[in-house]
Amino acid sequence: MESEVTSPVTDHSVVPEGLSPFELRTRRGVDVPENEVRSGIASGELGFLHSFTTGSTVDGPGVRVVAWTTLCMFRCKYCHNPDTWTLSNGTPVRIETAIEQLRKYATGLKVMKGGFTLSGGEPLMQARFAARLFAAAKELGIHTALETNGFYGDKLSDKELADIDLVILDMKALGPEQHKRVTSGIDNKPVIEFCERLAALHRPMWLRYVLVPGLTDDDAEMERIAEFAESLGVIERAEILPFHQMGRYKWEKLGLNYTLASTPPPSPEAVAHATGIFCAAGLNIS
Ligand code: SF4
Repeated sequence: MESEVTSPVTDHSVVPEGLSPFELRTRRGVDVPENEVRSGIASGELGFLHSFTTGSTVDGPGVRVVAWTTLCMFRCKYCHNPDTWTLSNGTPVRIETAIEQLRKYATGLKVMKGGFTLSGGEPLMQARFAARLFAAAKELGIHTALETNGFYGDKLSDKELADIDLVILDMKALGPEQHKRVTSGIDNKPVIEFCERLAALHRPMWLRYVLVPGLTDDDAEMERIAEFAESLGVIERAEILPFHQMGRYKWEKLGLNYTLASTPPPSPEAVAHATGIFCAAGLNIS
């Protein structure tokens, strides 16, 4: 593990294939010159990936190839991948390299009725790279999914959104003050606006909600989220994700202040209760 922390990889022609997002990774892109980072991000020529996994069955329909981007400003208290918060912790990958990688899996993904998911981190903080990758995936005939916190939805045009078959929205909170409590003080107005825009465009969505005892398990807040989600009319599925401590070691290794160190996972009863709230609003829940 330590060697991964101290060995930057700067060959832009290598996708970090087979690396689990649960492994700590830092400083992979630190020696990319600043001007190259800026122009690469602005054009989408260059993306920074934390990991690249195959065979996922939980990041969209069917069997998925998943690319995990770095960079996220939400800094959620329960984040289990805080090493994805910083761009330069990711491996720099040229867009052509990423597309070539997808091409390798295109036939298999179609046979298995799976697809490609871009997750993170927050993928839309590298919006040009994301848009180009989704467009290429659609040209290859691959089903596409974006897992996002929704804050930067306005960085994609309606035409670019049409290249995304499914948006998996990680909903932190509906109430602005609660959203600020769960994240590092981030306002959620852009998230709500993105949800409403997706609904107006009739784009399919899944909604995910992390259940954390003492932080996100307020009944009234969950009822508001469930009602809002149902009112959108495009949520195909909602998922309650029980909080876990798998990311704790990353917070500690990175020297971050982890405020949930003594928070237990929710009980099965609490998960069932939250599930009931989402079901009662009419959502299809799994
Ligand atoms: S939005 Fe996701 S990646 Fe970003 S801090 Fe929150 S949980 Fe972590």
